Order: sequence, then C-alpha cells, then structure tokens
Amino acid sequence: MESAKKALPGWANTTPMKRARVMFKFKELLEKNAEELARLISLEHGKVHDDALGELARGIDCVEFACGIPQLLKGEFSRNVGPSIDSYSDRQPLGVVAGITPFNFPAMVPMWMYPLAIACGNTFILKPSERDPSAPMFAWQLLMDAGLPEGVLNVVHGDKEAVDTILDHPDIKAVSFVGSTPIAEYVYQRGTKAGKRIQALGGAKNHMVVLPDADLDQAADALMGAGYGSAGERCMAISVAVPVGDKTADALIAKLKPRVEALKIGPATDKDAQMGPIVSKVQRDKIVGYIDAGVEAGAELVVDGRGFSLQGYENGFFVGGTLFDHVKPDMKIYREEIFGPVLSVVRAKTYQEAVDLIHGHEYANGTAIFTRDGDAAREFADKIEVGMVGINVPLPVPVAYHSFGGWKRSIFGDHSIYGPEGVHFYTRLKTVTTRWPAGIKNGAEFSFPSMK
Ligand code: NAD
Repeated sequence: MESAKKALPGWANTTPMKRARVMFKFKELLEKNAEELARLISLEHGKVHDDALGELARGIDCVEFACGIPQLLKGEFSRNVGPSIDSYSDRQPLGVVAGITPFNFPAMVPMWMYPLAIACGNTFILKPSERDPSAPMFAWQLLMDAGLPEGVLNVVHGDKEAVDTILDHPDIKAVSFVGSTPIAEYVYQRGTKAGKRIQALGGAKNHMVVLPDADLDQAADALMGAGYGSAGERCMAISVAVPVGDKTADALIAKLKPRVEALKIGPATDKDAQMGPIVSKVQRDKIVGYIDAGVEAGAELVVDGRGFSLQGYENGFFVGGTLFDHVKPDMKIYREEIFGPVLSVVRAKTYQEAVDLIHGHEYANGTAIFTRDGDAAREFADKIEVGMVGINVPLPVPVAYHSFGGWKRSIFGDHSIYGPEGVHFYTRLKTVTTRWPAGIKNGAEFSFPSMK
C-alpha cells in the first residue's frame, strides 16, 4: 500500500503519451515471452498450451487498447458557453486502485484491469488467485522491464485476509473483482460500504439455443469448443444446450455423443490434447459430486466422465467429457455453476420456452443462438436479458475495444470491465468553467447563472 501511495503523484503527473510508451514496450515483451508465460499458465492451471496462448493473446489485446490512452483520455471543450466563458471536461485518475482475480485466467483477467488502470494514471494493487500466481508475477516483471516506475503496479498474495484488507483500506479508491458470484456479492457489499467504487463480476450458466433450422454439425462443433475447452473452467463456457423441438434434440445428441467420447484429454504438455486436467482435487471432486447429483435427480447420463484415468497420470485431477440429456430446470446441475466439462441438454418445445428458461436463471453472463433465421436471431439479440450475446458465435467474449460484462447476478456494480467502460471505471470526470478578467463585469450577481 505504501509503495502504491508513494508512486501515485509522480505517475498521475506523467504524460499519457509516456504512460502509453510503457504499454507499447510491455506488449512487445509479452509477445516475446509468450511461450514461457503460456508454460507457466499451463503448469499451475492445467489448461493445454494453445488454450494458454489464446488467453494470453486476449490479455495482450487489452494492453494494446491501453496504448491508445492519450486518445481515450482526451476531454471535451466548449467555447463560449456564456459571455467570455469556456468550459472543458476531463477524466482524472482515482488514485490507488486494486484488482482481485480468479484462477481460471491467471494472465488475461488481471490484464482486463491493470494495464488500463495504470494507463489512466492510477497506481494498482493486484491480488491474483492463490492457485496460479506465477504468470501474473512474471508479467509484473516484464512490466517493470518495460520501464514502469517502482510502486505503480504491486502484487500481493493471499486469500480472504488479503481481500478483506483491500476492501477495508481507506486509501484504496476502487476495486475490480472477478470470481464466483457469492464472493463477488460479498466484495461489492463490503467495498461499497467502505465508500469504494466497485465492479464485481461473478459466475455464469450460459445457454446456447439451437433452432431446428441450424446447421447441426456447426452447432455440435461449437458446443464442443465452448463446453469442453479449458475443461469447462470458463465464465463464458456454454454449460447448457437448449435444442428447440425433440427432433432437433435427438439429432443434436446423436452428433454430440461421439464427439464427447472422442475428446482427447491429457496433461497440458501433450500437444494433441484438447482438454487438460481440473485445477485442483477439491474442484475435481466437486464436479464429480455434481455428476452424481444429476444421475440421482434423474437426468439421462449420455457420456460419463467420472471414471476417466490416464496411464502414467493416475493421480491427475482429470474428469472426462460428460454429457447429460433431459435435464430439468429444477435440478441442481442446471441451477448451479459446475465449472467443469459437463454439458447439460435441456429440451425446449418452442423458441419461447427456450427464452423463458434463460430468463428464469439467476445468472445472465453470456448466451448464444444457432440458427439460419435472421428474424429469429435479431429478435433474440434484441430481447434476451443477458449481457453478452452470440449469433452463431458460441463464445461471444467482447474484443478489447468493447467492454465485458453480464447482467443480473453475473455482475455487481454499474460498470462492465475493460474497453471504454474500463476507462470510465478507473477515472472520474471533472468539468472546469473558465472566465478571464476581460470578461468579468463588476458587481455581484445573486440569481442562478443562466443564459438569459
Ligand atoms: P473465487 O470466487 O473462489 O475466487 C476469486 C478471488 O476471490 C480469488 O482471488 C480468491 O483468493 C478470492 N476469494 C476466495 N474466497 C474468498 C472469500 N471467502 N473472501 C474473500 N475473497 C475470496 O473464484 P475462482 O474459483 O478463483 O474462479 C472461478 C469463478 O470465477 C467462477 O465462478 C467463474 O464463473 C468466475 N469468473 C467470472 C468471470 C466473469 O467475467 N464474469 C471471469 C472469470 C471467472
């Protein structure tokens, strides 16, 4: 905290152009060291190498966006808002701000936060996940090598105790949080009570609607990547497929079953693996517990990933790809976020039933529809109450120059993260009205200033 406070005045006064130059250099170093960063991600998280490179690339996009900070911070100016009076608006940094991040994107999610926060002139305290802290530490070193002054980015490690200290500290002005919904809600409540600006992004249960006219091979391929990529440990993973009509459902299951059975699962070092192990034993056991609960509740287990074992890696935390059919909305496996390689198929009779199902869920992070019908797609995009929508795109993660955020209990706070919303979150608006002596008439004015 002390180093972040000490670095603040100097950094806030550094010109945006100079701050951008550090970001340009940081981007270059990240690209140069991408292989090593991906290796560190895979080592602790378990995701396969290409997937780790993909997450890193999306993080680097955010650094690239932050390189445009001189343009992004440009204010507005109006001449002659009154007789000889001019006015300008300007976005100023908040001060010391903090970020708390989850295990599932150890490089990308911190980069949703600190590059932009720092580029805006703040100093930053990052509390990465205690489960995979090496990639964010390595990125910190690269940023220092890029010329960032000491104290501008600080990394602290820990769990609840570190988080509570951040939330209660009077000198931290804002906190970005990404993680599960119960913790996001807690962070929002405790942080706002302490007078801070908070954006807290939470969990998800993302549905993909498949209409009868969709290309079912495309839809099945999309479900494989979006459901089982990164072993389902993504907040934008599709965990529920909603085929409309029994004919569509039967055909979709027929296409999914062999694909799920053929999933190539292996350690992150296996170049051919499509999916790696689960991050920890606790998480693996939790996922297996959900599969047990689904079977007990009467869902049809089409592919069972519970017994999966790999020769030479018998103690690995693997779960095989799992597929359920005939899942009902009141089942625990439907209501709760499993965060594993488990795809549930909930059959809907009509398009409206699919929409009502989505609207009945507490989470509203992302969703997708697969169809060839432009009218249906447009109606879906327009009316669905979910923050991020894909039309024939299963993982509609916004690019770095848009902003990311769900609705309902997938987010707490008023700002989405990164992109233009990120600039607003990490700055506050000041408006200055100016008049110089030549424009000032003698004598006091007591009525409210107006254009009359
Ligand atoms: P988590 O909520 O367990 O942990 C997130 C952060 O909170 C970590 O830094 C952790 O140290 C801290 N934390 C954990 N328990 C705490 C407590 N009791 N009090 C205070 N702080 C605590 O989440 P996770 O398991 O690391 O990540 C997976 C979750 O994150 C999933 O729910 C996923 O959907 C969500 N997620 C959401 C998004 C999004 O953008 N909406 C993105 C990625 C992940």
